[in-house]
Amino acid sequence: HPHAYADGDTYHYGNQHTDRHSHRHAHTDRYAHTDQYRDAHPHAYVDADAGKLRQILINLLGNAVKFTESGTIKIDVKTRTHDETSDTVDFVFSVRDTGIGIPEDQKKTIFDAFEQQRSQDHAKYGGTGLGLAITKRLVEMMGGEIWVESEMRRGSTFCFTARFGLQAATLPAAVS
Ligand code: ADP
Repeated sequence: HPHAYADGDTYHYGNQHTDRHSHRHAHTDRYAHTDQYRDAHPHAYVDADAGKLRQILINLLGNAVKFTESGTIKIDVKTRTHDETSDTVDFVFSVRDTGIGIPEDQKKTIFDAFEQQRSQDHAKYGGTGLGLAITKRLVEMMGGEIWVESEMRRGSTFCFTARFGLQAATLPAAVS
C-alpha cells in the first residue's frame, strides 16, 4: 500500500511501516493520534508544490477541528491510477471528521466565497467563508478536484486529488 508523507519539498511513497504516536494536549484535554508512515526503502519521489499542499491541508484540518466537538479527525492519502509507464502519479487525500456535518443542499455552495451553512450559529463558529473557496482554487492550481461527503451530525470527509510528476529516487549517502 503506497502512502505519501511530506519531507521538505518532496513526497515519497513506497512500502511503508507505521509508527503510531499519541500525545495529550494539556490544555484542551484532547488526544491527538498520528500515524506516521515511514518509508523504509523509498523507491520514488514526486514533485509537489509543498506550499500549496500544506495550505490546503491546514485549511481542511482547521475546519475539521472547528466543526468537531468529539470523536476523531483522520487524514489519509492514497495513490490512485498509477500506471507503471506514466511519469505522473495521482494522489487522493482525505480529511475525515466526526463533527456536525453539512446539509445535502449546501455541499456544493460551501466551496463558493463567503458561503457558510445557513443552519449554523455564526456567533459560535465565526469565520469568513473564504477558506474553502481558497482551498478549491489551490487544488485546481495543482490540477486536482475537491469534493465533500457528509452526513448530518455524523461528520464530513473532504477529499481532493493531486497529480505529481515522478522523479528518480535519490537517497542520501550512508555514513558509517
Ligand atoms: P469559514 O470556516 O471561515 O466559515 P470555509 O470556507 O472554510 O469558511 O467554510 C465554509 C463553511 O463550510 C463553514 O462556515 C461551514 O458552514 C462549512 N464547513 C466547512 N468545513 C466543515 C466541516 N468540516 N464540517 C462542517 N461544516 C463545515
